Amino acid sequence: MLDTMYHSYMLIDGEQVQALSGRVDVIYNPASQEPVGEVPVGSRQDARLALQAARRAFPAWSETSCQKRAEILHEAADLVRERTDRIARLLTQEQGKPLKNARAEVRSSADMLDYYAEEGKRNFGEWMASGQSRSIVLKQPVGVAALITPWNFPVDLLAWKVAPALAAGCTFVAKPPSKAPIAATEFVKTLIDAGLPPGAANVVHGPGSEVGAELVQSPISRKIAFTGETKTGRWIMAHAAGQIKRVSLELGGQSPFIVCQDADLEKAASACTQRAFSNMGQICISVNRIYAAEEIADQFTAKLLEHTQRLRIGNGLEPDVDLGPMFSEAQREKTREHVADALAKGASLLCGGREPEGRAFEKGFFYLPTVLDNVDHSMRIMREETFGPVAPIMRFKTLEEAIALANDTEFGLAAYIFTRDLKTAIFASERLEAGGIGVNVNNVVDIQAPFGGWKQSGLGRELGHYGLEAYLETKHIRLGFEM
Ligand code: NAD
Repeated sequence: MLDTMYHSYMLIDGEQVQALSGRVDVIYNPASQEPVGEVPVGSRQDARLALQAARRAFPAWSETSCQKRAEILHEAADLVRERTDRIARLLTQEQGKPLKNARAEVRSSADMLDYYAEEGKRNFGEWMASGQSRSIVLKQPVGVAALITPWNFPVDLLAWKVAPALAAGCTFVAKPPSKAPIAATEFVKTLIDAGLPPGAANVVHGPGSEVGAELVQSPISRKIAFTGETKTGRWIMAHAAGQIKRVSLELGGQSPFIVCQDADLEKAASACTQRAFSNMGQICISVNRIYAAEEIADQFTAKLLEHTQRLRIGNGLEPDVDLGPMFSEAQREKTREHVADALAKGASLLCGGREPEGRAFEKGFFYLPTVLDNVDHSMRIMREETFGPVAPIMRFKTLEEAIALANDTEFGLAAYIFTRDLKTAIFASERLEAGGIGVNVNNVVDIQAPFGGWKQSGLGRELGHYGLEAYLETKHIRLGFEM
């Protein structure tokens, strides 16, 4: 716990402010339920002030040279790196993740600022000649962007939006997650400290149903970039439709992990363990469903268990901890329900399935990493996003069957396959219905490559040059020579 209670703030028009109403909320550490800090609870009115500030700042920022924008983004990246430890400690305390993971998240957000500082310089147009006319194609910033983010990676996922928005010439209002807003606000503050003009970067806290809804419905915002639950994404898409707003939606996942007969089982088990349990399974691209070829399923399962049982769980501030608590009691309860449903329908529990014992775990939202065998698609765990530390295993006979099972979901964010055969890898990659396919890797995030979902996992892409384009409009200027 911090020595003193941390007092957070909103950022409007370059100033650190409290809510107009004066309301505050206490943020609690999910490992201990001790208070971490206080944050203002904004309303629609606070959101409107922030949107107006962003609108005022837009003309000057959109006309600022890409070199100058890059200078500020690089300066902010340096400040984020200088402040990594402080921001990471706040992140661990409000979100629960181990400090080493929090540090990695903060460093990655600095990398994002550096990347888009340079990508912003590559916002090229086009020139086309046609008889007595010429066509110039410009890519111009879309306007004020509303950036709405979830609690599982509150700093990094905001950086995925903030960096390309600013590099493209947009100004923004961000709404971090209500129960983990502190570190994200500190991240945005580095931009202001780096010399971003007042109003270009704003942060408003408060309930999604109020502050988030205002950002979506206001005529000032021209673009909504949202990461969160599919249910919220549907609401946002429906409400953005009234003004045909541009939307990018990064939503839920239910990612399959296929282990073929010829896979390197040691590598597959290690990669699978890490991607199933890291951040307590609270990652949109977590491994949610494991399909193991029946010839190697027993061997793979034994290795998976071995790796799982090595994981150390505890308060994220303690050294050498691999897993922290879950983010909230609601998340833990959903995990319990999914495990109970699977067991009632015939699954076998190989490890976990309960809270760890001992005084250290009494107050936090801890849950042991859990491995289930003999699952099938009648179980909620194989159909709904658990967002918890559970690895359910199902056996398959043929690759075609594994692919059909993997695609038997409304989601399509990530899919993984482990095989040593190039033909199998290509055959499966081309048929798996997901925005990112990991072949012999357990991560489909790469700063320079597109990230996003198929089906109900989302719309649009972040990262790489795709991430910049999400904040640009296309304009065609046709020049005629004959007057
Ligand atoms: P959530 O949808 O409940 O909340 C996300 C954000 O939206 C929060 O800031 C919330 O306050 C806000 N919000 C809620 N209602 C709103 C409304 N009506 N209008 C505008 N904003 C509103 O999601 P969560 O529980 O914070 O995050 C977990 C979910 O996020 C999981 O489903 C996970 O898969 C998903 N996620 C997806 C990705 C991805 O890239 N696809 C990445 C991380 C998390």
